[in-house]
Amino acid sequence: MRADLTLCAACGVEAADPLPSVCPICEDERQFVPRGGQVWTTTGELAESGRRIVLDEVEPGLHSLRVEPRTGIGQTCYLVRTSSGNVLFDVPPYLDDEAVAAVAGLGGIDAIVASHPHMHGLQVAWSEAFAGARILVARRDRSWVQRPSPHVTEFEDEAEVLRGVRVRRVGGHFPGSCVVTFEARDGALVLLGSDSISPVAREGWVTFMRSFPNYLPLSAGAVRGIAQRVADLPVERIYGSFGQRTRQDGARAIAESAERYAEWVSGVHDDRVGHDDEPVGHD
Ligand SMILES: [Zn+2]
Ligand SMILES: [Zn+2]
Repeated sequence: MRADLTLCAACGVEAADPLPSVCPICEDERQFVPRGGQVWTTTGELAESGRRIVLDEVEPGLHSLRVEPRTGIGQTCYLVRTSSGNVLFDVPPYLDDEAVAAVAGLGGIDAIVASHPHMHGLQVAWSEAFAGARILVARRDRSWVQRPSPHVTEFEDEAEVLRGVRVRRVGGHFPGSCVVTFEARDGALVLLGSDSISPVAREGWVTFMRSFPNYLPLSAGAVRGIAQRVADLPVERIYGSFGQRTRQDGARAIAESAERYAEWVSGVHDDRVGHDDEPVGHD
């Protein structure tokens, strides 16, 4: 595996020469440039620091992949294994020969879909490690791809990644933010929600954000729009970017959570915020 691949140390997204002075993904309001300033690192430096990919089977046909010790944003990525091939959803900010061998042992990778640019990780390096696996990128987020590759193909709103595995653009967090759905071995519909539809601590609740690290919300209309884009899907389980999950009744969790969120950001519940001595800004 090449030791000279460059990536942003803060977000873990691969970069290409000439390197920009600041990572555009971190400079954007949805992320942040660390107080110490921009730091680039390489796959070689990460290997020397003891980084490795940890694979776990989270349910039959679905493995999680994480980099340990935590690297970049620290996301949990997923390998969907089907009879027609495997899909990597969200991409780790690292890879080495051991990880490639372990994933090859699970059937390899036929296609790569990152939910949005924060999760592009080393997507080109992972593609090249698996015979140039297709990298699907939503057209509306194409300009965020930091390392160009002939393996990148665009999709508009929805695409069949492999038989039984679909990607759908829901927007919100990024205009091209997308989710992947597939039928699990038990017949349930699983949604990989990443930062688009994100399970939270409370069972049966999910959230939607413009920025997670900077706690910037979305509007009521945007959140209802995300929920509307998946309203036809009988989603049962939802997996998020940090290992969190919704175990059942995912479709209801999305619909109810979107409505709750929309009500809060619209001021419907402002009688609960303790400003009853002042006029509030809604009818
Ligand atoms: Zn960055
Ligand atoms: Zn994100």
